[in-house]
Amino acid sequence: MIKVRECIRGMREYHSPLTNAKVDLRLDLNESTTGCSPRVLAKIRSLDSKLLALYPRREAGEKLIADFLGLEPAETFLTNGADEGIDILCRAYLDARDEMIIVVPAFAMYEIFAQASAAKTVRVPAMPDYNFPVEGILQAITPRTRLIVITNPNNPTGILAARTDILRVLQAAPDAAVLLDEAYFDFCGETLVDQVGRIPNLFVTRTFSKAYGLAGVRLGVLAGHAEQIGLLRRIAPPFNINVFALECLAEALDDREFVKAYVNQVRRTREWLRGELEKMGFKCWPSETNFLLAYFGELRLQILQGMEAQGIALRDRPDCEGCLRISIGTQQEMERALAVLKEIVAQKPAWQAVR
Ligand code: PMP
Repeated sequence: MIKVRECIRGMREYHSPLTNAKVDLRLDLNESTTGCSPRVLAKIRSLDSKLLALYPRREAGEKLIADFLGLEPAETFLTNGADEGIDILCRAYLDARDEMIIVVPAFAMYEIFAQASAAKTVRVPAMPDYNFPVEGILQAITPRTRLIVITNPNNPTGILAARTDILRVLQAAPDAAVLLDEAYFDFCGETLVDQVGRIPNLFVTRTFSKAYGLAGVRLGVLAGHAEQIGLLRRIAPPFNINVFALECLAEALDDREFVKAYVNQVRRTREWLRGELEKMGFKCWPSETNFLLAYFGELRLQILQGMEAQGIALRDRPDCEGCLRISIGTQQEMERALAVLKEIVAQKPAWQAVR
């Protein structure tokens, strides 16, 4: 029987939460429930049959995104979702037994891609209240550290790391690639993209899956020093960006009003929901993203299952004890979610505030 590589034999298949047909409000994947800009949709609808028959050309898109980010095209690499950028970095910088440092709790894909390179994941626990563990990361750096991932703001916690702390990590590990995952950038505005090209080991990734409402189109960008991006292009498939993503990029970047209005709504609704949950006695962490992490303690499973039974999916986070992650939809959707949650909680009269 043929055998896959040793490092893959030890891995398990990863699934994003399975779709339950009864769920009609998905608040478990940090997608936009609003959808994309009408201008983007109009552009996709206008594509003609001959264009679909051609291999897509990434270069024009890289010029657009570079201008948008204030970078050179040679410093940007369009990816099939931010996921692909993470994968390429792992393949490019991690040899077997090299070390990748991540902060836990973390987004799942870092570890999966590192494992496929037979690299070792060094997990640095977040500080109390999930704050960024800068000292822990500095202590974890060894001569084998080849990649450090900082998710800012973090998923699943929503917590932001300070720019000065990120710069300290970059300086402390000049021989390691440092990936700053800014998937939720649009909801907070904090970035180190201005340092791309100046700091040789810095990479920044962004995605169109969140604030732009284009998760299904699969589009992200990886920015870094031109020399390093040039090396990454060696292992990139030439047609990794599909024609829909490439054709709608200009409209997506240009319709800033759409993104701004959506982000403002999400922030308002998020803070409203946070206030409501806290009034009920459920702790929430301050979030700079399109989701909230909330502590439900021993009610966690009852809430998760009860909400699902009513058609609403939340995300279980066993890595954050007693917590569920709730993506923020429209105000109306979140009012529905809160009403269902209140009903579930009311079913347990003996229940007392968990924290
Ligand atoms: N990074 C983080 C922190 C994320 O939360 C996600 C998606 N949930 C991604 C990367 C991947 O995004 P994409 O859809 O662009 O692959």
